[in-house]
Amino acid sequence: MERNAAIKTIVYFIVILTLVVGASTISFQIQGGKDESLPKSRNLVMAQEMTVRQFGQANELSPPQLKEIFTLTATADLEKKLAEYGTSEQVSSLVTRKLALAAEHASKNWVKIPLKFALWLVFLSSVFIFLRERKLSSVHRKWLLFLAVAIFGIVLGADPSPMGTVKDAIHLYGTAKVIFPPRMVALSVFLVIVLLANKYICAWGCQAGTLQELIFRINSSENQKSGLGRQFKLPFVVTNTFRVLFFCLFVLIVFVWGTDIIAPIDPFKIFKPASLGLVGGIFVGLLLLLSLFVYRPWCHLFCPFGLVGWLLEKFSHVKINVQYETCIACQKCAAACPSTVMGAILRRDRKTIPDCFACYTCRDICPTGSINFSTHKRSLPPKDLFTEK
Ligand code: SF4
Ligand code: SF4
Repeated sequence: MERNAAIKTIVYFIVILTLVVGASTISFQIQGGKDESLPKSRNLVMAQEMTVRQFGQANELSPPQLKEIFTLTATADLEKKLAEYGTSEQVSSLVTRKLALAAEHASKNWVKIPLKFALWLVFLSSVFIFLRERKLSSVHRKWLLFLAVAIFGIVLGADPSPMGTVKDAIHLYGTAKVIFPPRMVALSVFLVIVLLANKYICAWGCQAGTLQELIFRINSSENQKSGLGRQFKLPFVVTNTFRVLFFCLFVLIVFVWGTDIIAPIDPFKIFKPASLGLVGGIFVGLLLLLSLFVYRPWCHLFCPFGLVGWLLEKFSHVKINVQYETCIACQKCAAACPSTVMGAILRRDRKTIPDCFACYTCRDICPTGSINFSTHKRSLPPKDLFTEK
């Protein structure tokens, strides 16, 4: 029986990966294969005595582009000297900023992005209302996660994503010193969702997050005795230290060398597989394999939005709460929680509360209905509630 369960898990894993990679490739092609990744910065050919027109010819910039960059009002302005626009550094910075913004704008699919955000809002609100009323069976949970992967990953693609908004904003600012306003709007929407309802966007909307969770859940069982074997809860102090260090390294390398170290290993690229190189393919494959045994490894170890979201979670309006009046301290919720967070929320025996992904497992398993996702302020457990356990 256990062997059958292990084989079933392996088959599901292969089917999910094949489906995600295959269907995403087709979906990407149908949508025109437009790569929405960040444009590369370029080296400019420039001399102060050049005219604007000569500068354009040397750098393959069309007159309309030059007009936009230098805010030219007449064709005759093309004969102005570059020196009129400042020193070489100033002109270079101006051109780099304007080109970066124009390339960002051109790389986006302006039909798909608002559609994706509208669907996110509809989907997350529906899940929120649905979960308030009902408990989730493990099968329903997997279907809900699969739906999120299918809609926000396979059909609507890798971009935009919660992680991309943080990562690309830092990369663009680090390399071109510009802020792309639409990205800030997107980031604000994601952060408002965190402030409203914990990591709801990560829990039920993020394409890479739901994929990792779906894979984790196909290997979960009530007693941890079936499937592919034991799943592990990594200590938060280890995962969060790693995540903070990785974030600092990412920022440092962007600002010093202009290189995005996340891009080659970005797991969101599984939804546009052609852009995953060999290193990325191996990394993402291993990450998803690890997801069978560890809950959301990318979110806990690498994701910049995961880190920012965790910092903001403290201020979330709605979050997991325990009613100690009815709690019998059986600690089934802490055992069922896929990470160490429920133990920390329940016992309040440490200062730092790890990420809570609003998965509702703890609420659904509680035998006395003492856990809810509510606006109440978290209270401390009665002094002796856990001492004799
Ligand atoms: S933490 Fe996980 S779920 Fe949240 S944005 Fe990052 S990858 Fe997605
Ligand atoms: S089981 Fe509860 S505490 Fe743990 S991640 Fe899910 S909702 Fe958060």
